Amino acid sequence: VKTDGKHSYCFFHQSFHDALQERHRKEAELRQALEHDQLVMYYQPRVDVATGATSSMEALVRWAHPTRGIVEPNDFIPLAEETGLIVRLGELVIDKVCAQLAFWSRQGDPLVPVSVNVSPRQFTQTDIARMLGDCLQRHQVDPALLEVELTESSMSGDGDEVARTLSAIQRMGVKLLVDDFGTGYSSLSQLQRLDFDVLKVDRAFTAQLEKTREGTVLFSAIITMAHGLGMRVVAEGVETLEQMRALKALRCDEIQGFLVSRPLPAADLPSRLRQGLVP
Ligand code: C2E
Ligand code: CA
Ligand code: CA
Ligand code: CA
Repeated sequence: VKTDGKHSYCFFHQSFHDALQERHRKEAELRQALEHDQLVMYYQPRVDVATGATSSMEALVRWAHPTRGIVEPNDFIPLAEETGLIVRLGELVIDKVCAQLAFWSRQGDPLVPVSVNVSPRQFTQTDIARMLGDCLQRHQVDPALLEVELTESSMSGDGDEVARTLSAIQRMGVKLLVDDFGTGYSSLSQLQRLDFDVLKVDRAFTAQLEKTREGTVLFSAIITMAHGLGMRVVAEGVETLEQMRALKALRCDEIQGFLVSRPLPAADLPSRLRQGLVP
């Protein structure tokens, strides 16, 4: 192929321009979605390994797009992060979850705690503790019903500042969970200092359980460490019975994954919780 410097420059220039335009279009569309209340929450149960009971659920956002249908978060959370729209999105998510908890409570439906994902930017650039407190109060929701999931990247900033924010959240009675553990760069000493309640082990580790002996050794070491620090352990992405059995043998506390349930629309939860046990 003969390359023409000038043309390839123009081509590059053109595609860069297109990409930029596409991005602006997507950003405007996402902004509209936030304004027009197009976000919906799905809920994925977490199950106690010993009893099989649903101990809590994770709230996972979806975009009910007017033409594309239900859009998964991996399609819009990264853009929301880059553009700063995540701050507004995060507030809407917490408000929706509190409203849902209040609704279930009024209906007399079975209730378990619900965890929300808080992005690093939302954690470091807003007064998240205050936001959570206001929202709980506005909806008259028991703080013990709300939990916050943070990835290791949220903990990388100013150590004292991070610790202050975390303890402000915990003092309200809201539990703290480490999300995707093992994929980030948090040091073990940081983990010990910050006093989280629950460690959610990334599904990459769960996937290694059946594959290699080292996979089991590693998971076992994580569980021992977490228990030693007073944390409960959740295995993410559990898809097979073999993985569940292996985790039970390792004394993992809870599992979450397609084996137990996919994330479900809010309306499906009450009957699922009344049913109680793992299928
Ligand atoms: P995450 O926080 O690690 O959430 C777990 C993801 O794993 C969910 O994907 C869930 O559907 C999926 N999952 C659950 N069980 C299994 C399994 O057995 N196998 C496999 N392969 N996957 C499983 P989802 O809902 O598409 O969310 C993707 C990510 O988007 C989340 O990862 C989280 O980082 C982000 N996200 C979702 N909702 C929110 C939100 O409300 N706020 C923020 N800031 N981020 C969110
Ligand atoms: Ca999560
Ligand atoms: Ca996770
Ligand atoms: Ca602790």
